[in-house]
Amino acid sequence: MSTTGRFAPTPSGPLHFGSLVAALASYCQARSQQGRWLLRIEDVDTPRVVRGSTDSILQDLEAFGFEWDGEVLYQSNQFERYQYYLDKLFADGRAYACECSRRSLREYGVESGILGQIYPGLCRDKQLAGDQLSIRLNTSRAGQIEFDDRVYAGQSMNLEVEVGDFVLKRVDGIFAYHLAVVVDDYLQQVDEIVRGADLLENTALHLYLQDCLGFPRPDYLHLPLVNNADGVKLSKQTGATALKPQQAVQQLTAALRPLGQWQDEVKEFSTPAELLQYAVAHWDLDAIPANSNGFENQVVNEEPGV
Ligand code: GLU
Repeated sequence: MSTTGRFAPTPSGPLHFGSLVAALASYCQARSQQGRWLLRIEDVDTPRVVRGSTDSILQDLEAFGFEWDGEVLYQSNQFERYQYYLDKLFADGRAYACECSRRSLREYGVESGILGQIYPGLCRDKQLAGDQLSIRLNTSRAGQIEFDDRVYAGQSMNLEVEVGDFVLKRVDGIFAYHLAVVVDDYLQQVDEIVRGADLLENTALHLYLQDCLGFPRPDYLHLPLVNNADGVKLSKQTGATALKPQQAVQQLTAALRPLGQWQDEVKEFSTPAELLQYAVAHWDLDAIPANSNGFENQVVNEEPGV
């Protein structure tokens, strides 16, 4: 069976260099195994969607030579499916309604962990129903979640202690990323997930949700993060510059560096498609460095206007 990978950008702004690295790596990893590569627009958090960014993402991907299989999946078209699986978790006694707000939890003195407040299950047994409630996953039976990342190797997390009962649907009715991503990857039959290491800690949550829903666990491969000159992860929030389609070949070449691919070779390509073809043919998974501090991208740092 051939593999299925995906690229799943959030349309909260245009693609930047860090997203290009994720697109490139997920593409090469899937295509080098003759696998499918899907595109999913993660617009589940509708208030965060920035008008026009979906179009600009699609245009940039095309300009950079990426070809995806099938239709683009939009999370905003998937709400009924998320509700279906949420109901299933409820019926199985895995999910419950919660009336606690962030503020009330602060006042209660709950601890904070890597992913925010560690919710200690205060509403687990209250059987709450009605409006103004969030829905959480009960992690009391999760124990230690372990997995082998293909770049970052052995990972282990005690979900209840380190994260707590996390939100599946917010009080404002928005489905959480964790539920959406797990349901979509399952329905799209994604079996190898390639994404930035900023999501490494989220993976234990996804694995436990997959277990609760009876979904198979995909393989995970997290990518070293790309930092800006100040050592801060490149993201829309830290002001990463948008991609420049007219410099697609140079920016794709630069994106291979943090992935450790053919660093000493100097190759000239006339089109992005030609470069991608070469990148797929020479893709070396073992060359990806598992650096936790991020890789300093010199093109972003040094070339004005890139
Ligand atoms: N939508 C997420 C992002 O743009 C990626 C989610 C994932 O790959 O699982 O950062």
